[in-house]
Amino acid sequence: MTEAALQAIGMSAGYHGVAAVSDIDLEVHAGEVVALLGPNGAGKTTTIRACAGQIGLLGGHVRLNGSERPGPLFKRIRGGMGLLTESRCVFMGLTVRENLRLGRGPMDDALAHFPELERRLDVRAGLISGGEQQMLALARILAARPNVLIADELSLGLAPLIVRRLLDALTAAAVDGAAVLIVEQQTRLALESAQRAYVLRRGKMALSGPVAELRAQSAAVAELYL
Ligand code: ATP
Repeated sequence: MTEAALQAIGMSAGYHGVAAVSDIDLEVHAGEVVALLGPNGAGKTTTIRACAGQIGLLGGHVRLNGSERPGPLFKRIRGGMGLLTESRCVFMGLTVRENLRLGRGPMDDALAHFPELERRLDVRAGLISGGEQQMLALARILAARPNVLIADELSLGLAPLIVRRLLDALTAAAVDGAAVLIVEQQTRLALESAQRAYVLRRGKMALSGPVAELRAQSAAVAELYL
């Protein structure tokens, strides 16, 4: 297999010097969608933040696009990483068009991913639906053609049909060669899109493997959620 586009090695991270996750080994290769699963508070968001450079590490290291020292968040984004956070980063007072112009990619590329945004271009982002806001956030990121794409809780508060659309767009990005890491509480939806998954429990990596294998061990996965 080729070198991973994103790799965490023995990574520990947390808040105020206290580890919320420890000894995390994780890798995502170009062309694959990998899901990070686990119950509430297991450390999924913390793991993603540490991988993205939003918070510092307490131990171990993160390798990104071959770099041993990928630097802070803005540098990683400049280097080709895309990050979709829970807060979506949509500017509510700006129109959809203005939001798309703030992105690093061409507007046409953004609209190609979600053509439904076209008729909303002159509407303020605060007035479109939550699903459209999430499409807007993702469209802006996808237009920049990230080679590593990290998405946290994409489905939060959205209807299953919209979530399917968003996950399909991530799958398409992986087919185009991106390494995609998604955090998802809706395990079933995540496993439909991902080829491999990691399951966190209480800040530790409890289980990992190809989705087909994890499905076969569904009892073990279910137990981790209890
Ligand atoms: P959820 O699905 O509920 O978002 P999660 O698996 O993403 O959960 P994290 O949000 O990473 O889990 O939380 C892991 C641990 O870190 C929890 O014990 C949480 O209370 C703690 N934590 C998260 N954010 C902070 C913060 N900003 N300051 C201090 N502790 C935090």
